[in-house]
Amino acid sequence: MESPVLELNNVEVLYSDVILAVKGISAKVPAGQCVTLLGANGAGKSTTLKAISNLIKTEDGRVTAGTISFDGIDIAGGNPADQVRRGMVHVMEGRKVLRHMTVEQNLVVGGHMGSGRDARALLDEVYGRIKRLAALRHRTAGYLSGGEQQLLVIGRALMAKPKLVMIDEPSLGLAPLMVEEVYGLLSELKASGLTLLIVEQNTRVALELADYGYVMEGGRVVLEGPSTSLRSNEDVREFYLGLT
Ligand code: ATP
Repeated sequence: MESPVLELNNVEVLYSDVILAVKGISAKVPAGQCVTLLGANGAGKSTTLKAISNLIKTEDGRVTAGTISFDGIDIAGGNPADQVRRGMVHVMEGRKVLRHMTVEQNLVVGGHMGSGRDARALLDEVYGRIKRLAALRHRTAGYLSGGEQQLLVIGRALMAKPKLVMIDEPSLGLAPLMVEEVYGLLSELKASGLTLLIVEQNTRVALELADYGYVMEGGRVVLEGPSTSLRSNEDVREFYLGLT
């Protein structure tokens, strides 16, 4: 079997030397697949993504155990820019656009973090994939709707020509139609071969797109499986899908 693009083995993250936010997570993200990390507030999902992308600030906390490998290479430690160069991009929660810059300037910043390819060619590629961004290219990012900003931060991630995109809560606070548009885009990206790791509290939409899911509680994986079996799991239906 082909080795996964990303593999976590017994990863632990400790904040402030006392809070063990992630307690030995093991997970795999195979090439070209979409994997989702599910769970309630505080379960440790965002921390797991930050551990992978080296975004845990040293003054806040650190990875205290386990291994994280990307393309078969141990990648723990280093800085976030190293991870981008290796081919992974982390789209953080909260749609962090550069508010006073235009859509296009935001995208160009993403390109500078990545492969160093010609910005114009990358922009055209992103506009080709996300038509709505092409129409908004001269607009100030801070005035876009939440959904448009979400499309923008995904577009900015694509400017780095990543192999793996990790996205934290892409549907948070969006109207249902916008959730559909954002997930429509993610589905197209997956169909084009991109590997995705998505943190979501919107379990329903995440399990529709994902091939495989991990359910986290209290810093641990309490359940995992193919999306189809998670969707029919009674606990998932009751606690995360609100179905009985
Ligand atoms: P959410 O959806 O609310 O972001 P989550 O599942 O992503 O939830 P995390 O944000 O990873 O959860 O938080 C896991 C635990 O770590 C929580 O108890 C949280 O309070 C704690 N935590 C997160 N960031 C820090 C930090 N910088 N310093 C100390 N504790 C933190």
